[in-house]
Amino acid sequence: MSKNYVIGYPRIGENRELKFALESYWSGKSDLSALENCAADLRRRHWEEQQAAGIGAISCNDFSFYDAMLDTCIMLGAVPARFRNIEDETIRYFTMARGDRQRTAMQMTKWFNTNYHYIVPEFAADDAFAPNASKIVAEYQEAKAAGIAPKINLVGPLTFLGLGKSADKNFDRYAHFDAILECYDAVLTAISTLDDRVTVQIDEPLLVTGPDAKTLSLLKRAYDRLGRSVSNVEIIVATYFEHACEAVEVLAHTPISGIALDFVHGPRNSEALGTIAQSGKTLIAGVIDGRNVWRSDLDAVGNTLETIAQTVPRSRIVPATSCSLLHVPYSLEAETALDAEIKQWLAFAKEKLAELNVVAKRFAGEALDDAELSLMQLSREAVHTRQCSPRIHDAAVQQRVAAQTGTERAEPYETRIKAQREALRYPLLPTTTIGSFPQTPELRTLRRDFKRGDIDVQAYDAGIKAYIDDCIAFQESIGLDVLVHGEPERNDMVEYFGEQLAGFVFSAKGWVQSYGSRCVKPPLIYGDVSRPLPMTVDWTTYAQSKTSKIVKGMLTGPVTILNWSFVRDDLPRADVAAQIALAIGDEVDDLQNAGIRIVQVDEAAFKEGYPLRRENISAYETWAVDAFRRSVACARSETQIHTHMCYSQFNDVIHTIEAMDADVISIETARSGNALLRIFKEVGYKQEVGPGVYDIHSPRVPPVAEMVAQINALLEVLPQEQLWINPDCGLKTRKWEEVKPSLANMVEAVREVRASF
Ligand code: GLN
Ligand code: ZN
Repeated sequence: MSKNYVIGYPRIGENRELKFALESYWSGKSDLSALENCAADLRRRHWEEQQAAGIGAISCNDFSFYDAMLDTCIMLGAVPARFRNIEDETIRYFTMARGDRQRTAMQMTKWFNTNYHYIVPEFAADDAFAPNASKIVAEYQEAKAAGIAPKINLVGPLTFLGLGKSADKNFDRYAHFDAILECYDAVLTAISTLDDRVTVQIDEPLLVTGPDAKTLSLLKRAYDRLGRSVSNVEIIVATYFEHACEAVEVLAHTPISGIALDFVHGPRNSEALGTIAQSGKTLIAGVIDGRNVWRSDLDAVGNTLETIAQTVPRSRIVPATSCSLLHVPYSLEAETALDAEIKQWLAFAKEKLAELNVVAKRFAGEALDDAELSLMQLSREAVHTRQCSPRIHDAAVQQRVAAQTGTERAEPYETRIKAQREALRYPLLPTTTIGSFPQTPELRTLRRDFKRGDIDVQAYDAGIKAYIDDCIAFQESIGLDVLVHGEPERNDMVEYFGEQLAGFVFSAKGWVQSYGSRCVKPPLIYGDVSRPLPMTVDWTTYAQSKTSKIVKGMLTGPVTILNWSFVRDDLPRADVAAQIALAIGDEVDDLQNAGIRIVQVDEAAFKEGYPLRRENISAYETWAVDAFRRSVACARSETQIHTHMCYSQFNDVIHTIEAMDADVISIETARSGNALLRIFKEVGYKQEVGPGVYDIHSPRVPPVAEMVAQINALLEVLPQEQLWINPDCGLKTRKWEEVKPSLANMVEAVREVRASF
């Protein structure tokens, strides 16, 4: 039988069963046993599906109630002090993830360059650790009972320590290295009693980020020890999302059995093949893309494997997914409404299992059955139709992108800002918001009813207009300077645009876990992108017609749209970004021609697209900045372009942000006083800046005096002519009862500060 290997499988369930079970349990509507039954059912189903698809290496312990890093905290006893007095294990676990009245939750952040969020381990000097293999043992036995002999997935010690944090800046997390290794050792010993032979996959994606000498020396120590820990446990160290060449050089000389490398997102892994060949280790060859949704070109995948086999002996190569399938939706079976031609081009997790099986069989020289032969056929057809389908290729778009060579606005910032101040006449410390206002249950119902066809377009328009009316009236009443329409028509800042752009399609159930019980359904960009009709002009001009103050138009930027979508793999991302930029540019132009004088192009996810390896960063920055600039290049000098970025560390990217050349940027700074602004001063940043003066993540209403102090702190760094005053981010997750007094206080604070000038 051919060998093949799946790094990990989604766990949330085809119909998001785990999400609903978790939320029902959290709200007290159901008990723990209902949650456990749901989880056991999902695990069994997922094992059986993989087995039925012909998968050899199937994981256990890839399931989690919340997150695998959090599970690793439990496995090692790495529980931060504030949670230790919670007796009940389950309550403790979920409190670590979600917090409670007295305890803040552990931090959550993005897992490498994915949209999945993990729980960040916390370390302190006096931590003590204790091994706990109970979850692993239970899941292994459960899989055995279901007729599967699984491998066991663990997060590795370097990744666990490397991604952790400490409140004490001077504390070296690697001080815990030996204590943690001790625990891994004990866990492996517990695992060794489970069977005659057990395979343990230890995930070390940290190794793809360009590890330094210290990390590599710890890597050697870790796997010298763990590889020898118990004789009947085989260790596979798994890496993904990029190449891991430096780590292979080290791991080749440790007593582990195999290494998993990603050949889809880390083609440079081919440089490590010689070392792998000499090492005698098994190569888990990640060739089926676990990060994207397109049907594989199975002939090309076969060729990749054959090329690998020219260096590494065939018997030691195991075809695999490039990473866990957690990052793709569950199955195309649910997509009954999807356009038939586009559906032919796709493969979600379940379909990828079938692809992997076929690839492995061909690689092993085994005969394919009829279903497998037809899968080969479909793959070839998809390759062919994607090359020539008029659904994908739009010559007009390609010509426009090629023709737009200059991405600069007509005049430099210094000239533009004069024209803008002349035309817009806003006061010192102009006040504004980031765009969205509270998304009320009534609003959600309105949009849902309209989508379902339960109400007609007149009723829908009337509802949206009533919201805009209220929103404008409120903003005028408190005296904000630059108003917004409030984004009531938008469910999501990317989906709203994707639904109106050509080249995008939406799945019905293409959910991907983002964190805990939360899932997102990213748009699929399958073809050349263009904008058939204006997308925001009607609502924005309606809002403008209700006030003599300036209404700011609100768009999502090309890089953010790209980074929050599944992107076609037959064109470089840079080219797709340039196409989206042109479409957004069309909207900017229509807005300014319709009398909108300020347009904000949000780039909330600009930073998320950053490559994992330093050597690739400047190429990304170049095309991402270029895309943003293309999208606003048509703005006349007196049209003021704003942008917004949520994240709060600007030190590494300040020159990139400068190069975007937005007239005004609003950023998230409220929780860190004026510290984050300093870099803007240090580099002599010229353009105007709106550092958030209050934290929108909390329901708390900040008092006037607090915001006065915050504004004065900002004024210590940048001159009054350069500052705008606004909240940290959009207000859509807040309630009106919080937003109204908070914004009124913000405007009052600005009045007080202005009076002191
Ligand atoms: N304009 C968007 C809003 O206010 C920006 C959201 C974001 O930055 N994430 O909701
Ligand atoms: Zn934001």
